[in-house]
Amino acid sequence: MSLIDKAVVRVLPAVPKAVVRRISSRYIAGSELADARRVVAELNAAGKLATVDVLGEEIVNPEEARAIAGAYLEVLDAIDEDGLEANVSVKLTALGLLLDPELARANVRAIAARGRFVRIDMEDSSTTDATLELYRGLRTEGVDNVGVVLQAMLKRTVADAEALAGANVRLCKGIYLEPEEIAFTDFDAVRANYVRTLRTLLDGGCYVGIATHDDWLVEQALREVRERPLRPEQYEFQMLLGVQTALGDRLVAEGHRLRIYVPFGRHWYEYSLRRLQENPKVAGYIAGDTLRRLVPGR
Ligand SMILES: Cc1cc2nc3c(=O)[nH]c(=O)nc-3n(C[C@H](O)[C@H](O)[C@H](O)COP(=O)(O)OP(=O)(O)OC[C@H]3O[C@@H](n4cnc5c(N)ncnc54)[C@H](O)[C@@H]3O)c2cc1C
Repeated sequence: MSLIDKAVVRVLPAVPKAVVRRISSRYIAGSELADARRVVAELNAAGKLATVDVLGEEIVNPEEARAIAGAYLEVLDAIDEDGLEANVSVKLTALGLLLDPELARANVRAIAARGRFVRIDMEDSSTTDATLELYRGLRTEGVDNVGVVLQAMLKRTVADAEALAGANVRLCKGIYLEPEEIAFTDFDAVRANYVRTLRTLLDGGCYVGIATHDDWLVEQALREVRERPLRPEQYEFQMLLGVQTALGDRLVAEGHRLRIYVPFGRHWYEYSLRRLQENPKVAGYIAGDTLRRLVPGR
């Protein structure tokens, strides 16, 4: 963690909420469903797909988990009403995984029953096995419109990819700070494992959501796609709202599918602080990016 990252994280709770809102407004659609609808419509008009994430705070009882599932059903109603090109991304802990895996499974099942694709985000490594198990359970019971996420930073990931042949998988580097016994901590090692996992997934007939803003990895992925060769409907790139917009625009202009991750919800402030504190590198990016916009040419 660089000194700047550490400093940013330390001062965060003291930063006025209005300032955090201004900084995070680029990365979060807003606090209401109407905000997400508007942002997704704008993305669609620019030729981009979306996946909507309802921001929730940590849940402590089954009712809260069901309330989050209910919020997703409202999102799906809105997507259908507006005819949007979007699906949803869910976090199993928000749907009750740590209270009772069966509760989380029932909640995902109810969300998937609406027919749209449901991406199950991957959280920290303490939940990896339970997440993959729940995903497999749903597939076994015939729920086909669900997909999972693999994190290239974890050493287990190539083996997980081999076991997921034919699945719909988002591949990302991984946002959580993990112990070095189980995770690559070196930047180049994570990149190398990303490429290795991507090849494994593509060779296993997976539909891959190539989730990265790393220019180098995007170039590697384009090469892998060209070498096979895959048609544009056989994979997609994915990016977070407000990040590397120019690179995303280039991919769309070149005819690739691009899906943007659109978080929204009343808990935007807690979410922003928690995500920033979980991984100070993100705070560093945002601080750097904000400085660049305040001081052009820096
Ligand atoms: C669509 C999508 C879904 C994701 N889902 C998950 C998930 O389910 N589980 C999980 O653990 N992680 C998830 N992530 C996060 C991911 O694991 C990485 O932490 C994140 O994408 C940064 O890695 P990178 O590949 O972009 O490369 P990096 O080398 O970290 O970033 C490349 C460049 O992109 C910019 N950048 C990257 N991230 C940000 C940011 N947040 N704010 C501002 N600028 C940024 C910076 O300019 C940076 O130099 C997801 C990412 C995306 C794009």
